[in-house]
Amino acid sequence: MLQSNCCQNPPFMRDFQSKKVYCKTHFTGLIEDRVQKTINRYNLLKREDHIGLGYSGGKDSTVLLDVLSKLIERFPQCTLTAITIDEGIKGYRDDCLEITQKITQKYQIPHVILSFKHIYGATLDQIIEKSLTMKHAMSACAICGILRRRALNYAARQVNATKIATAHNLDDEAQSILMNLVRGDFSKFIRLTRAPVQKFGSLLPRIRPFVRVTEPEIVQYAYAKELEYHSFPCPYASSAMRNDIRTFLSEMEKKRPSTLQNVVNLHDSLTQHVPKVTNLDPPFLCQKCGEVSTHEVCPVCLLLDNLGFENPLEK
Ligand code: SF4
Ligand SMILES: [Zn+2]
Ligand SMILES: [Zn+2]
Repeated sequence: MLQSNCCQNPPFMRDFQSKKVYCKTHFTGLIEDRVQKTINRYNLLKREDHIGLGYSGGKDSTVLLDVLSKLIERFPQCTLTAITIDEGIKGYRDDCLEITQKITQKYQIPHVILSFKHIYGATLDQIIEKSLTMKHAMSACAICGILRRRALNYAARQVNATKIATAHNLDDEAQSILMNLVRGDFSKFIRLTRAPVQKFGSLLPRIRPFVRVTEPEIVQYAYAKELEYHSFPCPYASSAMRNDIRTFLSEMEKKRPSTLQNVVNLHDSLTQHVPKVTNLDPPFLCQKCGEVSTHEVCPVCLLLDNLGFENPLEK
């Protein structure tokens, strides 16, 4: 019979790195230690940081909320605020919001909700509906990604956060690297670094403390700690190109364990050898809204203008 390598407690999960089998308690401790090591390795946190955690109420961000709320006990001057972006996806996000409120109350963590409707004057549903009437419709997730990134930065600034933390895990990270490779987008490929980029203008540094934790480990952590989270699928999710890459990488990981680690490690090494990355795309201030952008007009203003929406961000 399978036995734990850590103690006499029943076995729970095998660590994919050391191949050792852990009990529930030592497994959750292992994940917390790995996140702490990631924070140290990439210098993700300073003692006095106020973290704005992008919190959807789903599995990954709920586990990150749990881990961070524990880890910041070691940084007494660090504070945490959960930020939920309500994109306006009927029958999906409305249900998630209740859960986010319930969970943040349980952890006694300040929580703010900001909607697309409030910041852009339209819900994601309305924006996608309009986009589908256009000749070259963007995918729902591409639109959502552009608008959510801005909304999260906006909300984090409102609560005076110094950094934004998101729950991207090792699988997401390897997928993003490969997606940029497949698209031939050298600039994005190089800019995707694990270390937080210095604050530039109104753009807050982003950190991803889970970049060394796999998706299955997050699932098991949530199970071991009996965490409540929402698991409703987003109705637009199937349109994502990411799905193809995800399927490919998880097949590879099954056949050749450590594939995900290898992709991220290789990217770490490569990016260290490209000097002055920020010079690849000199930042501008968007002519319309004044936000930092790699083009004269930022993607958010471009998107709203192209779709014929009034742009409430315009100065
Ligand atoms: S699946 Fe796509 S549309 Fe749905 S929340 Fe995620 S990024 Fe947005
Ligand atoms: Zn144990
Ligand atoms: Zn703009």
